[in-house]
Amino acid sequence: MIKSPMEKESKKLSEKSTLGITVKKSEDTSEWYTQVLQKAELIEYGPVSGCYILRPAAYFIWEQVQAFFDPLIKQEGVKNAYFPLFIPESLLNKEEKHIAGFSAEVAWVESGGHSKLPERLAVRPTSETIMYDSYKKWIRSHTDLPLRLNQWCNVVRWEFKHPVPLLRSREFLWQEGHTAFAAQKDAIAETEKILDLYEKIFRDLYAVPVLKGKKSEAEKFAGAEFSLSVEAFLSHGKAIQGATSHHLGQHFSKAFDITFANEKQEQEHVWQNSWGITTRSIGVMVLMHGDDKGLVLPPRVAEKQVVIVPIVFDKDTAQKVLKEAEKLKKKLEKISVRVHLDNREGYTPGWKYNEWELKGVPLRMEIGPRDLEKKQVVIVRRDSGEKKFFPLSQLEDEVPALLEKIHHDLYEKAEKFLKESIVSVKTLKEAEKALEDKKLLFAAWCGEPECEDKFKEKTTAKSLNSPLKQETMRNEKCFACGGKATLKGYFGKSY
Ligand SMILES: [Zn+2]
Repeated sequence: MIKSPMEKESKKLSEKSTLGITVKKSEDTSEWYTQVLQKAELIEYGPVSGCYILRPAAYFIWEQVQAFFDPLIKQEGVKNAYFPLFIPESLLNKEEKHIAGFSAEVAWVESGGHSKLPERLAVRPTSETIMYDSYKKWIRSHTDLPLRLNQWCNVVRWEFKHPVPLLRSREFLWQEGHTAFAAQKDAIAETEKILDLYEKIFRDLYAVPVLKGKKSEAEKFAGAEFSLSVEAFLSHGKAIQGATSHHLGQHFSKAFDITFANEKQEQEHVWQNSWGITTRSIGVMVLMHGDDKGLVLPPRVAEKQVVIVPIVFDKDTAQKVLKEAEKLKKKLEKISVRVHLDNREGYTPGWKYNEWELKGVPLRMEIGPRDLEKKQVVIVRRDSGEKKFFPLSQLEDEVPALLEKIHHDLYEKAEKFLKESIVSVKTLKEAEKALEDKKLLFAAWCGEPECEDKFKEKTTAKSLNSPLKQETMRNEKCFACGGKATLKGYFGKSY
């Protein structure tokens, strides 16, 4: 291709601006991750360590999660509400195991203006205690049940382990559902239903396959009867919890005295659940699909699904090409494709390609004077790099189809990787070898917290979850301690 003077000039300009990712994902995943987050303009570091700014490209993704999940839970009968950010210390302390689990990471407000507060206020690390204080007032009779509320909000957990944007941050966004039922079986059924919806978010929005299951005793939520989770497995051999759904039993209803009169007018404690998904899920998606060039966005969460890059050499053809590009943009917007036309002057097409690749835009459309003559465009897929010509007349069919194809291909690739990563092990030695090979373990085990503690100490890996449907165990032995195995579960190194 002959370079026009305009292009030469623009090269100089562009060299000053963004540089690409300088490390390979496989060589230094954590450096790669922080570079991608910043250079793709998802995250900016804030002035307080562990608190990050979600830039529009990241917040857009969160909005897609909200737009997807909110109607699903409303269909189920859940309503949205909002409870205060500050929780009096006395309330937070009401459920013993709950506060024991959270005390190390609570941020406190001790004064207002110049005066010390009579009681310390926790900045909500989660809202069980403040919500159930109200549930106690609102629930009187079985006719008040089920009570099912959700809130979209932020929470603060002052974790002292080194923070990582999105994955382990001191403040994050989430939804927290809090429900109360008359019958335990209805509460338990809900925990599984919600888990299915979380799997749906990962599968249908993020194109990320997950393992659904029950957490171990050691890993369950502080104050829960049991916890269910979805877990993803990343290319550098680390698993990560994606979302959780907890059955709280009557632990909180007893601590908060939430009772109702049943049909026989006897007083009973309610059965409760809480469940949540956070902005961490965005980090999981970034780590799952990104490559050495940067972010790879699944089309359904991409703010820009298509970027059109006009290729212009001189003023004469420039006008024609730009006009066609505008037309194309409008045509695609009409069928609800999110399109960006990059008509910036002073940047070479090549420079623009790099930028949109770094930012993960699923499809790039190139259109130049020669394409106009042939009534065609070039379309390049971000995920596979595949480049193809398409007639202008067919784009309204081809573009949506391509976006769907990218979603499915990303999911399939990730699912294949997940399946190939799971290794069945029978002994601790086999487990250690598999962990060294960056694999995910599936093993029969005893389920005892002491056994898990020892395993954790030895390998720095932990239990992830155990499938809800278990096969019957036939005298199998625990892979870690050799004791009697009671279930099969997944283990791995984890965030
Ligand atoms: Zn064991």
